[in-house]
Amino acid sequence: MKRQRNVKIVATLGPASDTHDMIRALHEAGVDVFRLNMSHGTQEEIRAKHAIIRQVEAELDSPIAILADLQGPKLRVGDFVRGAEELENGASFRLDLDPADGDATRVCLPHPEIFAAIEPGVSLLVNDGKIRLKVESCGADFAECTVIAGGRISNHKGVNVPDVELPLAALSEKDRSDLEFACALGVDWLALSFVQRVEDVTEARALVKGRAAIMVKVEKPKAVERFEDILAVCDGVMVARGDLGVELPVQAVPPIQKRLIRKCRAAAKPVIVATQMLESMIESPMPTRAEVSDVATAIYEGSDAVMLSAESAAGQFPVQAVQTMDRVAIEVEADPTYAQIIAASRSIKGSSVADGIVAAAREIAETADIKAICCFTQSGTTALLTARERPGVPIIAMTSLRGTARRLALTWGCTCVMTGELARFKDAVVNAARAARAQGFATESDQIVLTAGVPFNVPGTTNILRVAPCDERLIYSTDPE
Ligand code: ATP
Ligand code: MG
Ligand code: MG
Repeated sequence: MKRQRNVKIVATLGPASDTHDMIRALHEAGVDVFRLNMSHGTQEEIRAKHAIIRQVEAELDSPIAILADLQGPKLRVGDFVRGAEELENGASFRLDLDPADGDATRVCLPHPEIFAAIEPGVSLLVNDGKIRLKVESCGADFAECTVIAGGRISNHKGVNVPDVELPLAALSEKDRSDLEFACALGVDWLALSFVQRVEDVTEARALVKGRAAIMVKVEKPKAVERFEDILAVCDGVMVARGDLGVELPVQAVPPIQKRLIRKCRAAAKPVIVATQMLESMIESPMPTRAEVSDVATAIYEGSDAVMLSAESAAGQFPVQAVQTMDRVAIEVEADPTYAQIIAASRSIKGSSVADGIVAAAREIAETADIKAICCFTQSGTTALLTARERPGVPIIAMTSLRGTARRLALTWGCTCVMTGELARFKDAVVNAARAARAQGFATESDQIVLTAGVPFNVPGTTNILRVAPCDERLIYSTDPE
């Protein structure tokens, strides 16, 4: 779907957004990528949401990316009798292994390894650190805690133990089952939580077997330390600020966010800034000024996408939250300072023919009156390299592979269009011109820049750069076969 902005919007689906009408409304309001969090909801619920997204995609003929997010070794409390409780400062609260639903005095924490590792004095942080508990006494199957910072605790909220290093495998049994389920269902991106090592990624990749692109959630200090090596083996990155801001001091998060965005852009891999972007919109139709500024900052920093979590999954104003992000993005991208910042951080030049071609395509598009850059791509690489250039005109990624079109829906500036199998270069030019007109980027009297690899269908052969008219009669009369 044609957008008025380059940055993409990711929205998490949940109970507030599980109907066809809501998912369609979210897409129309601006969502390019839907996130299905495997931490919440059953596989059958995920299957139902997946089917609705694919239906909306077919109705609107617009490629949509689906991102399945594996829980990973995330520690979570169990359920509550009433779904949620309010914990008061100074109150006692017990965590134990009893699977019975919790109340205001206790809840299940089904992780014996935590009880084995903690000791009195240790802090337990719940719900991205909003609630802080101090362990007073503990045993093999319980911890008696004092509530240091209270608040609302509800079913299945995450728990962090930043003081203690816990021995956790990267992929749990549940993750393996969810991974296979999501790949068989057909998702475009698979996000790995709590990645700490290169092997965590390569292990998952061996199981995914090319069925989805792999996104690393950076939310552990180790992933930040080893970021270069981890970036080299993944396809995209999420700056998962919720857990990151608990595992590290909160003030460490903004510099990390900036650094990661730059490195991802240099590597031509999409990056999402996630968590609490419009947190107050869970309950309010208006964001705070600070939240608006946070979304804007991520965009000024060059992020490929900004994300909604509980705002769209469990909030009262999912569509308004998307509209807010959309409006902020349009405003930021119209600011001349944005173009200056983006140009100033365009530092990396690769050494391949493709690197040269995408840079030239941007130069030409920005020098002459060119309306769009159309890149023919099968693996998606040429589109990713073009997006790395952050050109001042729209990028139309043309591909015959649906999976590539969907995956690229996450990438900055890419409008994805499906082509048929193309035999001749002339057909490609005609297709590109039609797409540019159909998307509303160009009229018959305009020109576009086109990049492609000939022969077609041989990956890694970007070797053509053509400035073409959008008038088909001119293409037929002037173009070589
Ligand atoms: P993660 O660390 O993977 O982000 P999370 O618990 O923060 O896990 P989010 O996907 O960020 O989960 O969603 C934020 C909150 O929205 C959740 O904590 C939960 O309360 C609610 N939520 C999200 N998806 C669902 C769902 N499918 N069912 C119920 N609640 C959900
Ligand atoms: Mg997280
Ligand atoms: Mg979250």
